[in-house]
Amino acid sequence: MSILSKVIEQDDMNRITSEFSRLRDRCYLEHAGSALYPQSLLESINDDLMNNLYTNPHTDKYTRDCVDQIRCLVLRHFNTDPSTYSVIFTSGTTQALKLLVESFQFGIDDNEVLNCGSFVYTRDNHTSVLGLREIAVEKNADIIHINHDEFLNSLQGFETTPSKWKERYKNEGNTLLVYPAQNNFNGFKYPINCMEKIKDGCLNSYIKKQLCKVNCNWYILLDAASYVATNKLDLSRIQPDFVGLSFYKIFGFPTGLGALLIKNGSDSVLNQKRYFGGGTVDIVLSSEDFHVKRESLHERFEDGTVPFLSIIALKHCFEMLNSLIPKVVNNDVMETISYHTFFLAKDLYQQLKNLHHKNGKQAAVLYMDSDFSDIHKQGATVTFNIKREDGSYIGYAEFQHLAELFSISLRTGCFCNSGSCQRHLNATNKEMKDMYKAGHKCGDEIDLVQGKPTGAVRASFGYHNTFNDVDKLMEMIHQCFLKTKFKTPKRLKTSFEIVKPPDVDKIINGDKSKLIDDEFFRDVETPFIKSNITLQEIAIFPIKSCGAFKIKSGWPIGIKGFRYDREWMIVNENGVCLTQKRNTRMCLIKPAIDLKQKLLILHHKGQPPISLPLNPPSNKLKEKFKFCQSKVCTDIVQGYDCGDVVADWLSNALEIPFLRLIRQSSNDKRKVKNKSEKDLLGLSNQAQFLLINKATVRWLNDKIEDPTFNDSMDQLTDRFRGNIVIDMDEELVEREWQRVVIGKHEFKVEGQCSRCQMICIDQQTGLKTVEPLRTISQQFAGKMRFGIYLTYVGTIDGSRDNVLKVNTAVKPCSNEDDISRFQDWFYLNFLTNRCYPRDVHNTSCKLRHRLRCACR
Ligand SMILES: *Cc1c(COP(=O)(O)O)cnc(C)c1O
Repeated sequence: MSILSKVIEQDDMNRITSEFSRLRDRCYLEHAGSALYPQSLLESINDDLMNNLYTNPHTDKYTRDCVDQIRCLVLRHFNTDPSTYSVIFTSGTTQALKLLVESFQFGIDDNEVLNCGSFVYTRDNHTSVLGLREIAVEKNADIIHINHDEFLNSLQGFETTPSKWKERYKNEGNTLLVYPAQNNFNGFKYPINCMEKIKDGCLNSYIKKQLCKVNCNWYILLDAASYVATNKLDLSRIQPDFVGLSFYKIFGFPTGLGALLIKNGSDSVLNQKRYFGGGTVDIVLSSEDFHVKRESLHERFEDGTVPFLSIIALKHCFEMLNSLIPKVVNNDVMETISYHTFFLAKDLYQQLKNLHHKNGKQAAVLYMDSDFSDIHKQGATVTFNIKREDGSYIGYAEFQHLAELFSISLRTGCFCNSGSCQRHLNATNKEMKDMYKAGHKCGDEIDLVQGKPTGAVRASFGYHNTFNDVDKLMEMIHQCFLKTKFKTPKRLKTSFEIVKPPDVDKIINGDKSKLIDDEFFRDVETPFIKSNITLQEIAIFPIKSCGAFKIKSGWPIGIKGFRYDREWMIVNENGVCLTQKRNTRMCLIKPAIDLKQKLLILHHKGQPPISLPLNPPSNKLKEKFKFCQSKVCTDIVQGYDCGDVVADWLSNALEIPFLRLIRQSSNDKRKVKNKSEKDLLGLSNQAQFLLINKATVRWLNDKIEDPTFNDSMDQLTDRFRGNIVIDMDEELVEREWQRVVIGKHEFKVEGQCSRCQMICIDQQTGLKTVEPLRTISQQFAGKMRFGIYLTYVGTIDGSRDNVLKVNTAVKPCSNEDDISRFQDWFYLNFLTNRCYPRDVHNTSCKLRHRLRCACR
């Protein structure tokens, strides 16, 4: 029996092809035009849409969360995450390219005409790219096209050096280069490991020859539409500024959905988007020319309602591909597809190359730019024309008709890539125009003009193809155009070599910002301040939205707030984070942390407790689990999955199937919104700490008139889920504070906490009440604020003690100036005397004195 694939085992291959039974005996070799969806994909999408409610994401937060989650799946597919790239959903590659150039700023400053970069494209590009020049020319950009060879030569003979790198940022404009990762004409793969070289100016000499400006910043738009259909685009290795793609070319479904991927940071040159639509503005006036576009990238760029059902379908596409395709090559689905399809195309290529008429003349003319010796230079496409015995061409239209007779689908003509077509057919511009005058138009049946072909035949392969498909095509060619009989070649499933991709010209360094390791509980506590306000209670919420763990003595402050506070979260099968608002019973899951045994222990009534190690598993063991928590998306949360046992335990407790427990990984970099690098967050929504004043709670309790509401003071306090509960005589004063010193730890007040219906959940029972939200709303005239957010500034004596202790004194400061003067003084002292306050008793005294003055 002959083999089906060089890469995928026979059984797996049969399983795959059974998903396309609707093809019957049709041989589909037009994968580059559109992939085919497997039948079970539609079933799982159907199932999802039949059983779940998805509505307009502008209205429905759940749908919005799902959509944001799928943005992350898209990025994961390309081996990156939201901290590096953003996803803008578009209707396809074409719209992605157009949107990009419409938004792109070629000019710099006021002098947009003089300081204006170029629009550079390779001639071998899709028509959708050529059309971009019409927009660019409007923006005063110089239009420059580079031919195939010159482009490759420029990349080859250039080395980046540090000095070139330094010169990189020249302020004479922004230049945009567009080129395809894979040519849709013949599957040739252009180098994509050369982003840095291009930015360092390897094309400048070419630009100079055209008498255009070279002192510009280079930006690269990669047209990945054809490449990603059967290849792995690894954005952790190569990082173009912008990438355009269409999903139907990968999955066959859904149509009308593509994406523009934007490297974070490169969006700074995308400020020329004119149009705005529903969902893209923060404010717009209908009677005045005034609007402000939204802050987050995708909100600014996605006009109107995104095709949310198609986006939901995308989730199933990723899942389907993962379950259908075995990971044979590099443990990766796309790499496996890449190798499988490459060998099919190579087989066809070699057969065509060796195809001869009886008189010895070659029967096929191939229009390739590689000989299939290197998978990194060639994709799964073969483009050719067939000649008769007498050397005359068979027109592509004739070929197409005969192929149709044999139920073979393939593409003929120029495939929307006139640059490549012209180059391979050896036609000058004049000849092209003459053909047009003779009546030939794109896509018509005039396949020969004066015996010369006006287009070609393209066969392209997808993962569902096998060697049988190659044979069908070759059989048809033999029967129709040759007088020889086709013999199925003997193919052996010999091992094949997995070739490492070429080196990237500069290794991209990830952020290696190191985190400070906390030292626990050093038992030193000097009473730095005196106050009649005390820290009464410390609570942490190890799992976001679950119960509190109350601290009896003291607790270390980490860089994201209290150690282990909101470090875990529960996500549902869509990867969306569960919240107490929707799942009130989450508060009944009570986590505890045992620092001695280094365990997180979860309790839930009616279930034996379960424990997890606090130390994260070694890097090797933990399956890297990247995701974003939509609630605070575009903030990105990276983490890892805590395994099946605890996942089942949680599903059981909350009676929701397929839950997972995710732990935020320690090097995740969530920041407080609009704040500096230093202020990092766990999975809490707003800030590191939430402070609640018990006096204000007492005051509120007195105001609540509802006779059915009979919370104890502790119960009522618990509803606010504060980390730091203080007690004092006065109520409501905390709202005016700007800084707080607790023991020797200084905190900055970030603002008041806005309240939602979550405070109406009794944390003991999980039941909802109307109070206290009703009274808060009444008392504060609809402004539902309660409690204040804090971020950690540091110890006031500069020591590294990081433990906050219960019962220590709390000192509020309402005048920011005083505190900053105090700080100046403190640092001045530190610098001039070179004394470390902790070591010098005297300084501490002064400090204490000074602090008393400052904080009065
Ligand atoms: C298909 C394709 C396009 C156009 O994609 P649409 O989905 O039609 O917008 C652009 N460039 C290349 C290389 C393609 O293969």
